[in-house]
Amino acid sequence: MIAKKLIIKRVIILLFSYMALALNIVNAKTFIKGEIIAGGIIIVNVSPGSTVKLNDESIMISDKGVFLVGFERKPQPTQILEIYNENVLVEKITLNVKIRSYEIQRINGINKDKVDPPQSVIDRIYMERNSVKESRKKSNLITSTYYNNGFVLPAKGPISGVYGSQRILNGKPRSPHYGIDIALPKGHEVVSPMDGIVVFSNNDLYYSGGTIIIAHGQGLTTSYLHLSEILVSVNDIVRRGELIGKVGATGRATGPHLHWGAELKGKRIDPKYLDVFN
Ligand SMILES: [Zn+2]
Repeated sequence: MIAKKLIIKRVIILLFSYMALALNIVNAKTFIKGEIIAGGIIIVNVSPGSTVKLNDESIMISDKGVFLVGFERKPQPTQILEIYNENVLVEKITLNVKIRSYEIQRINGINKDKVDPPQSVIDRIYMERNSVKESRKKSNLITSTYYNNGFVLPAKGPISGVYGSQRILNGKPRSPHYGIDIALPKGHEVVSPMDGIVVFSNNDLYYSGGTIIIAHGQGLTTSYLHLSEILVSVNDIVRRGELIGKVGATGRATGPHLHWGAELKGKRIDPKYLDVFN
């Protein structure tokens, strides 16, 4: 009889551990939502008041115990999350990051000054890069979890460029493509996919033309490039689904499209994984 009870108990324990695995529950306290994959982003819930380290570096966590982890195009395949309660390590989670392979994309017919910029615009490009960097740094300090209020696509249309592809522009190898291109006619509406605060807006950047960057909290930003019109200003609070600008072909573009990018504290992520905020 005792043996039978023990077997039943074991079966129940086994069932629970399978369920926990299926639901991505690491233990009762930690919950991970999202895919652990190159270019991906996950939402982690731990006990409020915990402190967290990712690969030995402290990360920002909300009072409700929520934080984000993003994975680069070619991430470290094994990453360690450590969760502390009152400075005592209570949990250590190994994140095994799925690796992806990327396609090669050749684009020809780009204005040659936008592939090899002339000396006269080098300073301009440098200054523009710095102001973008500064606004991203500011976004790292935003503690509000705007990203908690849901997600919609910024625009719907055929995908003409995917994240990660190795780019060959006019026959010359250039940086990988960090975003999704959505081919749409000039003037098509672009909405904010999530709540957030506008941290950058400029009508005329050398490479990206009309550009908006929105911060969604804890260092998560999304960007909208090549816009023909910008309808928001820096420090505006935007809501999910709110109109922010219109599709264009400004900057380095061969035709009208929306380039949609995403970044988490310096790690460029694949916007397709932002549906984790749904
Ligand atoms: Zn693009």
